[in-house]
Amino acid sequence: MSARALTGCRHRLALDTAASGADPDPGMALRVEAASVFRASVRDRMAGLTVIEPGEGAVTRTLDALARGADRVWGGVLPTAHGRRGHSELLIRVADGYVPVIVVNHKVSDPGAGATTSPLDRWAPAPDETVRVRQHRGDQMRLAHLTRMLQDAGHASSSLLGGSVGVDGARIVVHEIGPLLPQYDERFADRRAVLAGTSGTEPVRVAECRRCPWWPQCESVLAAQRDVSLVADGRSAPGLRAAGVTTVDQLAEYAGPQPEDVPVPIADLRAMARAWRDGQVLVRRTPEVRVRRADVEVDVDMESYQEYGAYLWGTWLRRDGVDEGYRPFATWEPVPTRDEARSFAAFWAFLMDRRAEAHAAGKTFAAYCYSQNAENKWLLASADRFAGEPGIPTRRAVEEFIASPEWVDMFDAVGDAFLSLEGRGLKKVAPVAGFHWRDAEAGGEASMLWYRVGVGIDPGFGDEDRAAQRERILAYNEDDVKATAALREFMSSERVNALPVVGD
Ligand code: SF4
Repeated sequence: MSARALTGCRHRLALDTAASGADPDPGMALRVEAASVFRASVRDRMAGLTVIEPGEGAVTRTLDALARGADRVWGGVLPTAHGRRGHSELLIRVADGYVPVIVVNHKVSDPGAGATTSPLDRWAPAPDETVRVRQHRGDQMRLAHLTRMLQDAGHASSSLLGGSVGVDGARIVVHEIGPLLPQYDERFADRRAVLAGTSGTEPVRVAECRRCPWWPQCESVLAAQRDVSLVADGRSAPGLRAAGVTTVDQLAEYAGPQPEDVPVPIADLRAMARAWRDGQVLVRRTPEVRVRRADVEVDVDMESYQEYGAYLWGTWLRRDGVDEGYRPFATWEPVPTRDEARSFAAFWAFLMDRRAEAHAAGKTFAAYCYSQNAENKWLLASADRFAGEPGIPTRRAVEEFIASPEWVDMFDAVGDAFLSLEGRGLKKVAPVAGFHWRDAEAGGEASMLWYRVGVGIDPGFGDEDRAAQRERILAYNEDDVKATAALREFMSSERVNALPVVGD
């Protein structure tokens, strides 16, 4: 069993195991590829590595390297024992053995203080007053798993330390593994029992369900049981069950006090339970729904390819209540490419020109996106990467714009106005406003696959295929910006008053 099986939904583990040979998840393949590109970039910045190439004999070569005391072993594959399988990006030799260090493409620290860190090029753990640890359950379990494997192989350091290198690739964040081991052992035994079919599982709606291919099957089971987790997420459902509230109907009629260990206000949960019974997805937090409007409105949606670049900035312009349509700013040279600077500069000029025109005419202006993290990241990164090229704004200009009230995050506006039974994803929320995508397969991961064909990353496709996939991306991007515009229109119309209100 690999460390991956230790986190996430037990029921999924059972279903995945029973259905080995099911269609691979193409989104997973892309995430795995992105992670391996990132790991290779970290490896290339390290000196003095003994690299274990994957393939036949990797375990023997790893054990040879450890036995002769190699300082830093990259890609080591440890021998299978007690049903454990696994490899470590880095094994670092310390006084009496090795510590495992994993390289992951998510954040492992935040600005702050209190973490113990080590430089990348040598193992020297010390208190760090610039960052604090960001705990990640999957990373902890993987480090505990690798520690047990090193112990099984007779190469673990008695320090029982481990490390993780996060997406900034700046340092090793050091973790104490010893305190994690009892919990790891318990979980390992439980997951082995699930894999062996000796421990039963059942569906419970959790955050993971949103991206899980088993959701249709699990949803029908949960709906038949009218299970309370359908409206109360993983944070609240256990506390509700402990209070005897196991079905949506019980929650809808619950008149008691706030149950212990339920962090969401019981009035909100009760309103969502009633909405679920009525077939509604959104509940107004207050009778009056507010959203910022302007004389000149531009909806913006960016498409990027992994960490390589932002290849498309799509816009939808509406002036004085009249839709003027979709305008994309794209490069179809595979990113990374200098041509991205041209398309980004054209997009920025379009946005700033509409804003300047509005101000000159004494009109209000606003630009909208849906969940600004991605757009802000690439606005700033584009200003940095292409600084000095024609039409590229300074980082300061971008910072001023995204901090201004003229840059509006519709994701936040939806959260301020509504409770949602199905999360705040645009695909879940915009249909309530009557908006539907033309392409049923539209989605972030699908668009990455289309992009690979559209720009020729995937071989074996002709000009027609490439053109068709580019058109598909543009239609999807156009629908995304139209969706945020339609949502705003809905939120400021009388139609929104048909939605239930908390406390009704
Ligand atoms: S849909 Fe949810 S409950 Fe069902 S297997 Fe997937 S994660 Fe588990």
